[in-house]
Amino acid sequence: TNLAKNTSNGIVVYEMGQDESHQRELTIIRDLPEALETGQLFMVYQPKVNIAQRQCLSSEALIRWIHPSLGFIPPDEFIRLIEQSGNIKVLTQWVIQQVLAQQVIWQKQGMQMQVAINLSAHDLQDTHLPDQIQSSLDYFGLDASLLSLEVTESAVMADTKTVICVLGELKKLGCKLSIDDFGTGQSSLAYLRDLPVDEVKIDRTFVKNIDTNKNDALIVSATVQLSHGFGFTVTAEGMENYIGLDILESFECDTIQGYYFSKPLAAAEFYQWVSAFNTDSGKWWQPHSSNT
Ligand code: C2E
Ligand code: MG
Ligand code: MG
Ligand code: MG
Repeated sequence: TNLAKNTSNGIVVYEMGQDESHQRELTIIRDLPEALETGQLFMVYQPKVNIAQRQCLSSEALIRWIHPSLGFIPPDEFIRLIEQSGNIKVLTQWVIQQVLAQQVIWQKQGMQMQVAINLSAHDLQDTHLPDQIQSSLDYFGLDASLLSLEVTESAVMADTKTVICVLGELKKLGCKLSIDDFGTGQSSLAYLRDLPVDEVKIDRTFVKNIDTNKNDALIVSATVQLSHGFGFTVTAEGMENYIGLDILESFECDTIQGYYFSKPLAAAEFYQWVSAFNTDSGKWWQPHSSNT
């Protein structure tokens, strides 16, 4: 049953009861294998724009699940459950196959596109992962530098020794490595020092109010400086408006990903978007330009 809750501002919020939310979790875990086979799951791609070149040369692959009865399930919700149920490796393998196959299609269309895949904590404890990725790259005939792997600080924390070893192997293959959601986990500075990464992605929570919040702006500019000092490139996540672009450019941020440029798109739409953007990106650097 739905529980109606009166909040202080008078808005009535419906929350799922415990039984209902437990039922939902069981459904999600139970239905994943079938969902993989029946096309309920698919990948979308969000552009990452290189600021100095004003070109989109890389992107992030994000998973989507439209469930027949539950509808859209946010990835944050089902990834956590799949991880808990021990199925994340299967899902990650599926994501890798989908993404590499898509990159081959784009390559045939004349678009060389680096794609980043999100790895979760369990993936990083799997010492077979580097070999599996190497075989997949060989199978699809793709260069490792076209594949980027995003890991969060909390995923690294789980078993730092194994994770550093796995990351080292992935780096040896020639894959790019990124720290995702930077600044929201713990001991961020030690990870900058110790992990063999190429890129730092500053979390959206610091980027979204960069035009109004001085503290956020300070965190972002300092993170860019620090990351550059280590030789890493910096991506700002979640930039939604032109003012943000202006500020991030002045901070010398290398790459920007966010709704201002584009939401994550289905593969065909993504190809169209990139073709148009890379042909004429100048207008995005004018204040009136907007994606929405
Ligand atoms: P993430 O890796 O940090 O991905 C960025 C999230 O920010 C995405 O949410 C993206 O749609 C959203 N985003 C990008 N720009 C903007 C913006 O300007 N404004 C706002 N409000 N949001 C923006 P999404 O797709 O819901 O994914 C959420 C999280 O789920 C991801 O966070 C990632 O941790 C996880 N995830 C998604 N796909 C996968 C996957 O294939 N495998 C794994 N292991 N995790 C995934
Ligand atoms: Mg990510
Ligand atoms: Mg992120
Ligand atoms: Mg995230």
